[in-house]
Amino acid sequence: MGSDTKAISVKLNGSGLIRSHGLIGGKWTEAYDAKTFEVLNPATGEVITTVPFMAGRETNDAIASAQEAFPSWSKLTATERSKRLRKWYDLLISHKEELGQIITLEQGKPLKEGIGEVAYAANFIEFYAEEAKRVYGDIIPTTSPDRRFFVLKQPIGVVGLITPWNFPIAMITRKVAPALACGCTVVIKPSELTPLTALAAAELSIQAGIPPGVVNVVMGDAPAIGEALLASSQVKTISFTGSTAVGKKLMAGAAATVKKVSLELGGNAPCIVFDDADIEVAVKGTLAAKFRNTGQTCICANRVLVQEGIYDKFADAFSKAVKSLKMGNGFEEGVVLVETLVQDAVSKGAKILAGGNRHSLGFTFYEPTVIADVKNEMRISSEEVFGPVAPLLKFKTEEEAIHIANDTNAGLASYIFTTNVQRSWRVAEALEYGIVGVNEGLVSTEVTPHGGMKQSGLGREGSKYGMEEYLEHHPHILGKWDGALRMMVYLGFCGNVVKYISI
Ligand code: ADP
Repeated sequence: MGSDTKAISVKLNGSGLIRSHGLIGGKWTEAYDAKTFEVLNPATGEVITTVPFMAGRETNDAIASAQEAFPSWSKLTATERSKRLRKWYDLLISHKEELGQIITLEQGKPLKEGIGEVAYAANFIEFYAEEAKRVYGDIIPTTSPDRRFFVLKQPIGVVGLITPWNFPIAMITRKVAPALACGCTVVIKPSELTPLTALAAAELSIQAGIPPGVVNVVMGDAPAIGEALLASSQVKTISFTGSTAVGKKLMAGAAATVKKVSLELGGNAPCIVFDDADIEVAVKGTLAAKFRNTGQTCICANRVLVQEGIYDKFADAFSKAVKSLKMGNGFEEGVVLVETLVQDAVSKGAKILAGGNRHSLGFTFYEPTVIADVKNEMRISSEEVFGPVAPLLKFKTEEEAIHIANDTNAGLASYIFTTNVQRSWRVAEALEYGIVGVNEGLVSTEVTPHGGMKQSGLGREGSKYGMEEYLEHHPHILGKWDGALRMMVYLGFCGNVVKYISI
């Protein structure tokens, strides 16, 4: 496929999936003051289209629409919500080529990865379509003969979802699917760098029969939109994926209305290669952990800790593998787009084994890079690189590796490579990280929980645990369990309970 932004946009326009308005209450909407901003192709700098620059007023209306849609959406049976989600999944899959193209256009990742992201994103919708039917409550053993206790799980209400640019659709479906499955309604604020994928997915949600107002999308003035979401007492939780700095701001802002927050923030993932690792598995796994999405994911290996006995052999094999990575515009086959900085480490004595320069392709491209002799004190060890640079740090003992790995405020993903079973359990348990990959570089799936310890976040996404972020636990304490009459009176007052008891 050629790389001409206009030609691809024109073709996509025919698909009806390029939407250049926000979505409020089921209506495609301009900004109220008609302001717009440009969405660019990061590989070429060309303008793809313009979208509305929305702010507080539009966000308030989106919240009101979500609030209005909440009673009927949450009262649909779980089976009915499940069917609509399943339909949405089918539509995402049948349009995965076009959606992948939109991702490549506005985000820059290779088309194959874009299409792969759509499939991954759709998996969340499929998984939660099924999980919708499994929101079980609990019966709690009583502490006295005349009382009975049980817990209903109910949708929390309207939720605000704020997502980044690195995975323009997967970061959205990971939140919106469990929210909708539980019966919540949403206001989505995608990254201003990648709003088109979110809008295309929203268009397909309408086609899937998800009612107007259940899914709303606003974008433009991020702080103003964030403020409006935080200020509204109708918004019951905010789920955010992005930088630690913005996450902390949102958490502080949520205090005013005592809102729940789910945060998936920056990582500083260690990837530990022990002397007893299978070198081929370690090189392949580290490559996947480091260079996925060109190093621009919060679970990307940020520091590669290599034990001294295997250091030289690994450094050699790994740099060879890195040198063979291809890069360029995402619409060309087999390429990886890259960008980042290395200067500080080199000025303090680190050595470049591969890459190390801005690529001759220019603009936003940086060569896939390996730097050896990195020390824990260098900035590259403590800051999230978010680019295709793999710093290698040498260590002697297991204790030392664990100490270096945990010596950070972050705690999202970590990786270990070893063929020693005892060591794999020991080290995995000692790592203060929400996710541990053992002899595996790809650790994101819809069926396992994803989230961080320490300052990498709060809450979990994916799996059955991801539902909890959008549910209230609602205990019912039934007193005077001493006769049918009292019971009937109670049941008469409590429609939910009638339903529950009659199951
Ligand atoms: P990244 O570096 O991954 O883009 P950011 O935290 O800057 O991380 O952005 C993640 C998301 O948070 C984006 O949708 C962005 O527009 C949004 N965002 C940035 N600042 C704010 C803010 N003050 N309030 C609400 N959302 C914000």
